[in-house]
Amino acid sequence: MSTTTSPLDQRASPPLWLLTELTYRCPLHCAFCYNPVDFASHGAELDTDTWRDVITQARGLGAAQIGFSGGEPLVRDDLETLVAHARGLGFYTNLITSGVGLNEQRIAALKEAGLDHIQLSFQDSTRELNDFVSSTKTFDLKHRVARLIKAHGYPMVLNCVLHRYNLPHVAQIIDMALEMGADYLELANTQYYGWAMLNREQLMPTSEQLQEAEAMVNRYRERVGDRCRILFVVPDYFESRPKACMNGWGSVFLGIAPDGTALPCHAARSLPGLSLPRVQDTALADIWYHSHAFNAFRGDDWMREPCRSCDERGADHGGCRCQAYLLTGDAAAADPVCAKSAHHEQIEQVVTLARRPARDGACDTQAQPLIFRSRENSLRLG
Ligand code: SF4
Ligand code: SF4
Repeated sequence: MSTTTSPLDQRASPPLWLLTELTYRCPLHCAFCYNPVDFASHGAELDTDTWRDVITQARGLGAAQIGFSGGEPLVRDDLETLVAHARGLGFYTNLITSGVGLNEQRIAALKEAGLDHIQLSFQDSTRELNDFVSSTKTFDLKHRVARLIKAHGYPMVLNCVLHRYNLPHVAQIIDMALEMGADYLELANTQYYGWAMLNREQLMPTSEQLQEAEAMVNRYRERVGDRCRILFVVPDYFESRPKACMNGWGSVFLGIAPDGTALPCHAARSLPGLSLPRVQDTALADIWYHSHAFNAFRGDDWMREPCRSCDERGADHGGCRCQAYLLTGDAAAADPVCAKSAHHEQIEQVVTLARRPARDGACDTQAQPLIFRSRENSLRLG
């Protein structure tokens, strides 16, 4: 195993959140998927024993929460084994799923394995748009899975990614969640990475859509109180300060891609020159504390102006490195979402372009069709 030491590693605290992306296989084809566009050309998935070893190492480092994600993690038939292993080590275990593949038998087995939490994604409150955006017929199945989750005593945690086409349906999405007995609803506006970046022009909402949706969410919050907690995550293109991406690079988040590549953030593969380590070659402790990739943007020594002398750098850590690179070509630049960035104009242009009339629920894909996440498209575009 190789180790690269760096003086920056002295300041690192242990990872808290381990995200295992077990597979890039997924029956859905969401146009906003955050997976890398070139996923189909990545290496083979880790086997069960290697995943077990990675989970053990991460727990040894101090990680307390584990997410099983993908792709669709339920396509792995060792999911129950891995959940049981993680739970046995004391992890709080989360399944992040589209629901496809979750039946009575599997949910009982996952419960038996000690799974703590299930987050189910929906694409819309209407069958038409749910099925269109995911390019599948999964609307009815998701309703069945939601009932199954409730019947097995799990808290009902729903997630719906918002964009230009479903923002006008926010009230109906909340009504649907309430009817399902949701305890928690995450309304997360699209973040523009991976496939969502490819489809940015079609998915970007207008500021009016966002304001109306947020006002609606606030009205519902007053009405339903603690019965259902509703989270509304605004797309950062509409902000003047960036998000504190990953709470700081190499700070709490440790992601492992299906092929064993260790990731300081979901989109880190898009950054050039990082030489991302793999768990097959390097011990997790060395990856976390000593690898070049995990130290590249840790702390604030890497910052340039305007971040370097900015008194807000402790709050947002300069924003997202992947977004900075995607939009400026420089991974050490300030995230252009920031109004202090010399590139902020680019963000404003995208938002201005989005001001064309939005048609309620209608997917105007004539001028520029959505590109769906599929193996064929990945091989063609990757
Ligand atoms: S966003 Fe959609 S396509 Fe991507 S992994 Fe999730 S369910 Fe699959
Ligand atoms: S200049 Fe940098 S540190 Fe300051 S607010 Fe903007 S992104 Fe954050």
